Amino acid sequence: MALIVQKYGGTSVGSAERIKNVAKRVAKARAEGHDVVVVVSAMSGETNRLVALAHEMQDIPDPRELDVVLSTGEQVTIGLLAMALKNIGVPAKSYTGWQVAVKTDNAHTKARIEEIDDAAMRADLKEGKVVIVAGFQGINEKGDISTLGRGGSDTSAVALAAALKADECQIYTDVDGVYTTDPRVVPEARRLETVTFEEMLELASLGSKVLQIRSVEFAGKYKVRLRVLSSLQEGGDGTLITFEEDNNMERAAVSGIAFDKNQARINVRGVPDKPGIAYQILGAVANANIEVDMIIQNVGAEGTTDFSFTVPRGDYKPTLELLNQLKDSIGAAEIDGDDTVCKVSIVGLGMRSHVGVASKMFRTLAEEGINIQMISTSEIKVSVLIDEKYMELATRILHKAFELDQ
Ligand code: ADP
Ligand code: ASP
Ligand code: MG
Repeated sequence: MALIVQKYGGTSVGSAERIKNVAKRVAKARAEGHDVVVVVSAMSGETNRLVALAHEMQDIPDPRELDVVLSTGEQVTIGLLAMALKNIGVPAKSYTGWQVAVKTDNAHTKARIEEIDDAAMRADLKEGKVVIVAGFQGINEKGDISTLGRGGSDTSAVALAAALKADECQIYTDVDGVYTTDPRVVPEARRLETVTFEEMLELASLGSKVLQIRSVEFAGKYKVRLRVLSSLQEGGDGTLITFEEDNNMERAAVSGIAFDKNQARINVRGVPDKPGIAYQILGAVANANIEVDMIIQNVGAEGTTDFSFTVPRGDYKPTLELLNQLKDSIGAAEIDGDDTVCKVSIVGLGMRSHVGVASKMFRTLAEEGINIQMISTSEIKVSVLIDEKYMELATRILHKAFELDQ
């Protein structure tokens, strides 16, 4: 007998019929003798609907009230799933985030989980109940409802699995595992039987939304056994996130490709080339709580230099406004940018033992006439910034060039 945390995403609980199906899956795991804690998302489309409603009330919705609204989606599905389970004779009890309590910091709409009280859940499990917890939400030290950022139910599930020391955390979604790239974009993408924790961390942070990045970080920190599976099809082992590194010299150079449209490029041209200039520009951006990702600095003409960097697309206009205010004090000749760019990244532990991986990526893109605007690399990934109109093409040709379809 094991303790299993199962998480069902929006599509998996997208209709009454699907919720009944989830109940059957949960009942099956319980019939096999397992203790089950279920985490659910809101029905698909619901969180987007709530975000849109909030924006009809205020251009920039009040963060505390926005979390009050956003958290309602998951409250509906926990109650419905509990009813569906009771209806087939399985004792179950639903919990909102604050009832558990899932304690978070005070950052509304992107709160981090700090502590989980497992006493009530353990007592229910002991009585043979299935425990159902609302994903994506918690309570902060002021007693206010918080939410964990889009896709945050994954993180709720992994954090609960860590707190309960569960034997496995199973993420049920609308694909049957982690693929070499998003199968909606590249139909030839293949399911990976296993992916290492390090690779999954890169893929998630570079745009693969199959797992929220914080859920992967949690799994790494607390060594949670994490598996991604399909809720829509029977059977299958899905993809297991592994911690042990096989020393397989035959390992392919690239394991997966991620892409991300949530990017914008900012250019600050013709600033004096002197110590402290990077700090003046990027420090101001950081102080405005805007996350800078890729950065390049070019030597310009006559003692000047040009900076380019990327920010999340939603921060494009605020960043331009901020820098235009500083234009005179930093001595910039010109400030402009582009918010129609995207980042495409290849990821693989195999890069450590293969040479020429990056150049193969650049050659493949060049052969299709795709211009690279920025590059960033780490030991196990290479990312390029390109025009967003080439995102799908670039992903497809790289997938083929690195033989991920085979
Ligand atoms: P859920 O609502 O269950 O949380 P998400 O939509 O958040 O589901 O995540 C699943 C989706 O992630 C898939 O439908 C797929 O389009 C997308 N995806 C992106 N990259 C990958 C990948 N490498 N492997 C599998 N799915 C991916
Ligand atoms: N319902 C939330 C969202 O759509 C959380 C989640 O689904 O994981 O982002
Ligand atoms: Mg998700």
